[in-house]
Amino acid sequence: MIVDLEEVGGGSYEADVCVIGGGAAGITVARALATSGISTVLVEGGGLTPEATSQQLYRGEVTGRPYSLETSRLRYFGGSTGHWEGYCGPLDASDFRPRGWVPYSGWPIDHQELLPYWTEAHEILDLGPFLYDVPGRERRTGEFKWLRPCLWRHSPPTRFKEKYEDDVRRSDVITCLLHANLLRLQGTNGGRVARQALVGALGGALATVRAHTFVLACGGIENARVLLLAAHRGDLALDQVEAVTGRFFMEHVLVGKTATVLANGDWWRDFERFSHEGFDVTPGLRLSEKTQQDHELLSLGGMMRPTECPAGPLAGRTCLAFLTVAEQAPDPGSLVTLGSRHDAFGLPLAKLHWRLGDLDRRTIDVGSRLLAHEIGRLRLGRTRLEDMLSPAAADSFWSANHHIGTTRMADDGVVDPDCRVHGIENLFVAGSSVFPTGGYVNPTLTIVALALRLADHIAKRL
Ligand SMILES: Cc1cc2nc3c(=O)[nH]c(=O)nc-3n(C[C@H](O)[C@H](O)[C@H](O)COP(=O)(O)OP(=O)(O)OC[C@H]3O[C@@H](n4cnc5c(N)ncnc54)[C@H](O)[C@@H]3O)c2cc1C
Repeated sequence: MIVDLEEVGGGSYEADVCVIGGGAAGITVARALATSGISTVLVEGGGLTPEATSQQLYRGEVTGRPYSLETSRLRYFGGSTGHWEGYCGPLDASDFRPRGWVPYSGWPIDHQELLPYWTEAHEILDLGPFLYDVPGRERRTGEFKWLRPCLWRHSPPTRFKEKYEDDVRRSDVITCLLHANLLRLQGTNGGRVARQALVGALGGALATVRAHTFVLACGGIENARVLLLAAHRGDLALDQVEAVTGRFFMEHVLVGKTATVLANGDWWRDFERFSHEGFDVTPGLRLSEKTQQDHELLSLGGMMRPTECPAGPLAGRTCLAFLTVAEQAPDPGSLVTLGSRHDAFGLPLAKLHWRLGDLDRRTIDVGSRLLAHEIGRLRLGRTRLEDMLSPAAADSFWSANHHIGTTRMADDGVVDPDCRVHGIENLFVAGSSVFPTGGYVNPTLTIVALALRLADHIAKRL
């Protein structure tokens, strides 16, 4: 059932679970719980279509690297899947292991544990078979020494509003409250048990939602903001996690032009997007685990794109740009805090201080050099490298609209391996804010997989 708080004008709701945020994570948790007959109130701040007034609630303050808090996420039913591009892939097994040269690295869960959920998430995101080593494409590139082939799968892209609105509307056990912005998340037992969400519409309507279990699924920046607000007001006993909440904000760093390759022959066609059993995939290259270890680098991958060759004698030849996607190292100084400006409800807006460190820049620099060596060694072409350590290059690093790490899963982080907030009995977090590290691959497949895993866990607890 879908109810618009603006239309009903208020009320009080009760369910087994209250999921706050109706994006990929929140909708997945609610739908998965519904299969076990568990009732959910799904609280969504926006409506069924994007609205400027709702979107303005996503404004914020930015210090550090330039960033658009308003355009990097969407505040309506379906969340940012309303404009995501659909590039997907699982994290690598090595992304889960602690790496001596990457402070704060290592997940408290194993890669294997996510495999069944990634497979299920593939169906939800319309990605085809969970296969990342597509056979039948003989590579003409020879043996790589530092790099390994990798693959992105393309979701159509699945828009959760279009695909899942009817499911939610017809459900007997899901009540989705639209235009219901979380204003307070209040607890009992000295704040150790979340008990009630107070939600409000911009038109003034207020409602309460009581539940046995609460799931925060408001996106990677807002999850931290909600917890910081609850800590600030003393609504929940968050003393154990307050100091770390919002810290370790990470992005995937996109670099359009680390290297331009003047290609010999047409081997690069093996890296073009193609259809595998009716599902689109794009092959790429990434740093091998050994290369990361030997050179003490983060994870990095990329795709080959034909580009214009510089004018002159090269006219008519094929040049390739290597579109690089790099992991960012966890850094407590890259963070989301509460700002001094307020939203239309009078709540402090998020303030983002995104910064990159030496390891982030060195990974992009050395990674592109190793690509150039590899291309030369295998006689695939010649490469012109940009100086990735120059201040001008750093200005050309883009963010990928991926909000990672602000409620990290760690003993000394914000959530435990079950995604439960430390110190609160019944409050869980869904979304990329729980990732302790983000690898180089886009996050949504893992967001959906973790949401399915969380729903399983909650279903067992109830
Ligand atoms: C332009 C763009 C391209 C992208 N491309 C890719 C890609 O190719 N591959 C990939 O993996 N990822 C991509 N992403 C990222 C992807 O969209 C996100 O990872 C994913 O949508 C996050 O899902 P989520 O449910 O965690 O958060 P969101 O989608 O942000 O959903 C959060 C939901 O919570 C609601 N909400 C927020 N605050 C409140 C509140 N206080 N009260 C009530 N409700 C609230 C919001 O309205 C929203 O519906 C892209 C993002 C953008 C912006």
